[in-house]
Amino acid sequence: MGAWLLQGVKRFPGDPDARYDLRIDDGVITRWCNAGSGDTTDAQVRDLDGLWVLPAFVDSHLHLLYSLEHARQLDLSQLPPESVRALLANHAPESVGESRVVGHGWKDPLSEQLLPDPRRFLDAVLPGWTVFLWNSDHHRALVSSAALQAAGIDPSQHSGVVTEEDAELVWAAVGQPPLEDAHAASRWLLRRGITAATTFDRGDSIELLRRENSEDQLGVRIRHGMPESQFLEVLDGGGSCFPEGKEDSSFAMPWIKIFLDGTLGSRTAWMKSGYDDDPGNLGVERRPAASLERTARLAARYGWALAIHAIGDAAVAEANRWIQFTRDLRGTDLPDRIEHFQCFDPEDLAAIRRTGTIASMQPCHLFQDRQILRSRWGSRAAHALALKSIDEAGIPVVMGSDAPIESADPWLDIAAAVTRLDRNGEGEAFYPQQRVSFEKAFRWRTSSAAFANMLPSGWGTLDPGSVADLQVIGAEDPSRVRCLADARLIDVLSMGEWRLSNREDR
Ligand SMILES: [Zn+2]
Repeated sequence: MGAWLLQGVKRFPGDPDARYDLRIDDGVITRWCNAGSGDTTDAQVRDLDGLWVLPAFVDSHLHLLYSLEHARQLDLSQLPPESVRALLANHAPESVGESRVVGHGWKDPLSEQLLPDPRRFLDAVLPGWTVFLWNSDHHRALVSSAALQAAGIDPSQHSGVVTEEDAELVWAAVGQPPLEDAHAASRWLLRRGITAATTFDRGDSIELLRRENSEDQLGVRIRHGMPESQFLEVLDGGGSCFPEGKEDSSFAMPWIKIFLDGTLGSRTAWMKSGYDDDPGNLGVERRPAASLERTARLAARYGWALAIHAIGDAAVAEANRWIQFTRDLRGTDLPDRIEHFQCFDPEDLAAIRRTGTIASMQPCHLFQDRQILRSRWGSRAAHALALKSIDEAGIPVVMGSDAPIESADPWLDIAAAVTRLDRNGEGEAFYPQQRVSFEKAFRWRTSSAAFANMLPSGWGTLDPGSVADLQVIGAEDPSRVRCLADARLIDVLSMGEWRLSNREDR
């Protein structure tokens, strides 16, 4: 890997008037000294006069390969609902030789023309076609008769609206295009200043990312969740299934990923009491206790951590109970996490802190959810993505994008936590008392997120002795950056190599 001397840089966080030379040997930060006095012995020199050097980002929760697949799908998100027919009808002639269309991004309310039976509508617009349209949070979908039949479901009495496990069943059956190239996915991260990412992709991405990153080729430390169903399948088939990798590995898989509930947007987040606009509905408890207990016992036996999807306040409390159960059996401190942690009952926070559970949150969900949080959860919206309260309760927080559900731009995620404004930095702050400082949100995307993502100790700092995963930006004041474009990202260094300079795909 060799040595680098970066000359004349500003160090973030730090004094904007101070200039330093930064020496890096074999991918490790070795020394900061005053500008002009750096040791150039055997080092390549890069003059970065007056530019900021910052730790690179981690994304603690996204769907990496699916994000690229998503970008190729039909996008319904910016479309008035009444235009779905026109969009689908126009799409057909473009798809020569295909009779399949996958899209995403619709939200409630559904347009009149789709009701009461979206399946009939889709069948009428594209007769005989396999149509699968995810909603914006990917927990519900509109499907055609052919899509239902592919999953072995009789379409004749079916509305064509599938949710949660049924949606996944049909999704698995409609036949996905091949997984995108892992190298394209890693470049996509590096262009956002991200050098470490935890992905919860479909099972077949594990093999691809493990293979393609076996010798750090991707320049990004990849962490993966093992889907619960896949874990159980291996064990039920008589195999054994252990976690993979260590802190310094380029690929590691420490978690079993479990879904405990659905989402706010699909009214399937599991709540302790009913939805304000649907009082009889408590959401969905996706996993019966008996089968969860089995998974928890097996996870503990094989030494896995848990990453449990929990959005509603009931799901968050229950997720913590299972994490406690697993930690007691396992006896080792691993990064057990609740994914999303979108709503909580304040009564539960003390127990969650005692367990040692990490809150893996996506403040950027405030952009999409701010309109429906109050109407669906009423006063409980005060505890929605309430980062400040969770932090003050002593629960470790880490942040991620949940891409492609939200933008993968780390700066936007930080802005959401700091301002709680809308995507454009406008509107009224959503429960402004829950805003956190820029410094704090930045650490939740860097140094404070190292343990939670099984990264080397010191990762995300610029301290001597730590891994030199860093980014160089041209912005005047990093703490005022709102989005990637403001940051003016110039280059990213990871594992001793510059990742953006001299690249055509930049
Ligand atoms: Zn997710």
